[in-house]
Amino acid sequence: MWKNVREGSKVFWGINNITRSHKSHLALSEFVPACPPPNPHQVEQLQDFVSQSQRLFVMTGAGISTESGIPDYRSEGVGLYSRTERRPIQHSEFVQSQAARRRYWARNFVGWPSFSSHEPNSAHVNLCKWERAGRLHWLVTQNVDALHTKAGQCRLSELHGCTHRVICLGCQTVTKRSELQERFLNLNPSWNEQAHGLAPDGDVFLTDEQVSDFQVPACTKCGGILKPQVTFFGDTVNRGFVFSIYEQMKQADAMLIVGSSLQVYSGYRFALNAKELHLPIAILNIGPTRADHLAKVKVSARCGDVLPHILLQDQWHKEIQS
Ligand SMILES: [Zn+2]
Repeated sequence: MWKNVREGSKVFWGINNITRSHKSHLALSEFVPACPPPNPHQVEQLQDFVSQSQRLFVMTGAGISTESGIPDYRSEGVGLYSRTERRPIQHSEFVQSQAARRRYWARNFVGWPSFSSHEPNSAHVNLCKWERAGRLHWLVTQNVDALHTKAGQCRLSELHGCTHRVICLGCQTVTKRSELQERFLNLNPSWNEQAHGLAPDGDVFLTDEQVSDFQVPACTKCGGILKPQVTFFGDTVNRGFVFSIYEQMKQADAMLIVGSSLQVYSGYRFALNAKELHLPIAILNIGPTRADHLAKVKVSARCGDVLPHILLQDQWHKEIQS
């Protein structure tokens, strides 16, 4: 267990415990970028930052889920862009091409049992604890993996949607992805392709020849095209939805960014908005981010090595007093 050592009015972090925690993640090196152990001084700054906030606004990205075994697209060396030639499907391609949709859904069908079984890690769980303690005002995630929901988070906006839901492009009816899996199985009883790799959106690698006979069902209500309720590349997030998140930010007193380099503007704009609202910003992420120049506190480390050990003010006082 992580121990704090009180020195004067400050809390310092035991470096031995940080190192041990770091080593425990070596098995995840396939998905999590290489990173030195957390800098104790930076962690102490983050502890101060969180302790001083009463209504924290948190934004998370792929970096929080890599420790649950979900690869991201962009991380150096281990991200999907680094490891393969594959690129995610474009929104226009999905909408316009039946062949593209068949390919997408066939791969998604094969990857679903594995992708949908990922579990939240200690970082997700800790953010949920902050919510239950009344200290996390709102959480916006760029992830589509449902891990915050699985952890129990309620005050949540999924900025880019969620792969666990399906929307009909005709009548906008939203259904569970798990129900669609049953329909796929009924329509494709002989389908037994093996997964060749897992992508962040549940996509799996199969050749065009392999997917040519895959049957894709339509909406049961209107016969329309079914699509994951996810913002594909080339599509934009609904403006009304973005403004509803801005409204939540107005009620917050600080912003914490976890596991995102903010390379995509749809995420970066929330850091810009926080700056405009004069909210102090802290960032926990391996490597540089687009918002580093806006941040009051920056910790370059794995989320799971740091977040579970940041205590809320009440817990923090108890630690000091004990
Ligand atoms: Zn429909």
